[in-house]
Amino acid sequence: MRPKLVIGNWKMNGNRADNAALLAGIAAGLGAHAAACAVCVPAPYLQQCEETLAGSRIAWGAQDVSMHDCGAYTGEVCARMVADFGGRYVIVGHSERRAYHGESSELVANKVLAVLEQRMVPIVCVGETLEQREAGQTVQVVGAQLDAVLDALDPQVLPGLVLAYEPVWAIGTGRNATPDMAQQVHAQLRARLAARNPAAAAVVPVLYGGSMKPDNAFDLLAQPDIDGGLIGGAALKAPDFLAIIAAAD
Ligand code: PGA
Repeated sequence: MRPKLVIGNWKMNGNRADNAALLAGIAAGLGAHAAACAVCVPAPYLQQCEETLAGSRIAWGAQDVSMHDCGAYTGEVCARMVADFGGRYVIVGHSERRAYHGESSELVANKVLAVLEQRMVPIVCVGETLEQREAGQTVQVVGAQLDAVLDALDPQVLPGLVLAYEPVWAIGTGRNATPDMAQQVHAQLRARLAARNPAAAAVVPVLYGGSMKPDNAFDLLAQPDIDGGLIGGAALKAPDFLAIIAAAD
C-alpha cells in the first residue's frame, strides 16, 4: 500500500499572523495520524514555514517556479530559491496557472525538470474542463498533459514525482468528482505511468484535488488509486485540513 499524502494549496492567501495560527493549529492537531502532510504556500512565506515547521512532520513547498535557474528573469522565483528555504514540494501546472498564465504542457514539463534538478518533488497537476468532460475527452486531455511531462523525463526519475488529478470544474466550486469518477481517471494516469516505468507506477502518489472537504474525503481516499489530496479552500482552516488528514488513516 502506498502511504497517503495530504497537501494544502494555500493559493494566494495568507499573512504572517494568520499563517502562524494555521500552522500552529495543524501542528497541534496532527497527533498520530499516519498520512504525510505538507503546505504549499506563497513564496514570501517560505521562510516562515522553515522557521515554524523545521523538525515537524509538516513539510512545505511552493505553488510554482520558473523553468529557469537564477538569472535575469524579473519577478520570477526559481526552484533553487525554494530549496534554499527547505522546500520539499512544488506544485507544477496547476490549472489556474495553465488558464490565467497561459502555461503550456511543454512549459510545465520544463518546470518539472527544474524542480527535480533541485532534488525537490514536483506535484504535477492535470485535469479537464467541464466542456472537455462533457465532450468525452477527459482521458485524452489528462493523458496528453501527463505525456508531455513523461516525454521530457528519463523513466528512471519517475518515482520522484507526485501526480494530482484536479478536474477544473471541481476546483473551488464545491462540486467534487465522485469517488468512482476520480478513481477511473487515477487508474488511467497510473497505467500511463506504468507504460514508462512499472516500478514508478507502484510508488507514485496520485492525489485528487477539487473541492475535497472533510465530508467527502473519506470516500475519495478509500479508492484504490487515490493516494491523497491536494486541498485548496479546506486547507485554510486547521480543523478542516486535519479532518481530511484523519480521513486518510
Ligand atoms: P479546492 O482547490 O480544494 O479549493 O477546490 C484545490 C486546488 O485547486 O488545488
